[in-house]
Amino acid sequence: MDVLSPKSRQELEAELACLRSRLGEYEALEALSRETGEAFLRSLEGGERCRERLDAKSEELCNARHQLQKALGRYTDLFNHSPIGYFLIDQHGILREVNVKGAALLGQSPVHLQGAPFAKYITPLARPAFDHHLQSVFAGSSGQIELALDTPDVPALPVILETSLIEGMDEGTGPLCLAAALDLGSRKQAEKALAERTEELARSNEDLERFAYVISHDLQEPLRNIGNYVQLLSRRYKGRLDADADDYIGFVVDGVMRLSNMIRELLTFSRITTQGRTFEVVDSGAALKDALANLESAITESLAEIHIAPMPEVQADSTQLISLFQNLIGNALKYREADRNPRIRIEARPVGEKWLFSIVDNGIGIESRQFERLFMLFQRINPQGGIQGTGIGLAVCKRIVERHGGQLWVESTPGQGSIFYFTLPAAPSSH
Ligand code: ADP
Repeated sequence: MDVLSPKSRQELEAELACLRSRLGEYEALEALSRETGEAFLRSLEGGERCRERLDAKSEELCNARHQLQKALGRYTDLFNHSPIGYFLIDQHGILREVNVKGAALLGQSPVHLQGAPFAKYITPLARPAFDHHLQSVFAGSSGQIELALDTPDVPALPVILETSLIEGMDEGTGPLCLAAALDLGSRKQAEKALAERTEELARSNEDLERFAYVISHDLQEPLRNIGNYVQLLSRRYKGRLDADADDYIGFVVDGVMRLSNMIRELLTFSRITTQGRTFEVVDSGAALKDALANLESAITESLAEIHIAPMPEVQADSTQLISLFQNLIGNALKYREADRNPRIRIEARPVGEKWLFSIVDNGIGIESRQFERLFMLFQRINPQGGIQGTGIGLAVCKRIVERHGGQLWVESTPGQGSIFYFTLPAAPSSH
């Protein structure tokens, strides 16, 4: 029987050494694989962080793209719904883009126009001038050209083309000429309509003034007769007829008086523009003094306190200026509070080429919803308040101020008082 011969000690040691060195290799390999594993894990973590950053970036980009899309949408809306016709034309005169209004001016759809030569849609007569203009736009000078758009379906339409050069909007597009078409036809029509309307208004104003003048002038005479006879009746028959008759005669006398006041003021109103005097340098302080002299009895009777600041020189019709002050101060006295004496302050301060006058009172005041109505002819705010009037005074004031190129308005607090403001042109060297 074969017996394995025992290994020699030498062989065993060699095998052991071999095994040891293998073990060393395994250990080194294990350390290496551990390190690699850790490195791999680390890189995985890094990758995760990277991915998070990328996610955040991509969300940002998404938002930006969304905003851009919205902006583009807005731009497209603006472009398309603008009331001005826009044409983007390239160097060769080809239409690259047209908005809805532009296409409507040419009687076409925007899609149909893209790629078509713009010259096709203008009158043959205007084409050479347009070509020349287009060249100068591409040479760097913007400007405008007047021409007529013309298509078979739409009658020739005069327009102004405002042109300017813009950089190509898409990649690969060279610079483009942006032409904005302003429809001269409708503008001219609107101007014509406005001029006609203004003329018509001026004519009807003149007619009304003449009418008011004739009526008030011609009514004065018969009314005076009625007044005279009624007063005669009243003097001769007072107490000789019955009590009712005396009352009736009294009512007629009152009515005639009121009517004749109204007619006199209407006459004044109708004469403001037709019979006004030419403007001259007027000392507004002197005009104010005259107005106060005319109001003397009302001032004394109401125990009014009147403060006057230094008054400037203005360019005005002096008679009308007196009447303006008289009406406004007269109202301040008339519309006073029952329980206090009127206190009125008159001031003026320069505003540009004009003087701004203010008349401040401590009277009954006016509600703001009445501010407009106040200045209309025959409008009285509180006729049942027992204060006599015709409702013409402020309309006269407004007319006078407007004849001088100024404005008249009011600020007021009911129960506290009002401020009437008006502007008048300054005398040439007074401001
Ligand atoms: P009239 O005084 O004859 O009624 P006006 O045209 O001068 O006519 O004034 C129109 C209305 O404006 C008056 O009825 C009055 O109600 C109101 N008003 C004018 N001035 C004042 C004022 N200073 N304070 C309060 N109310 C005023």
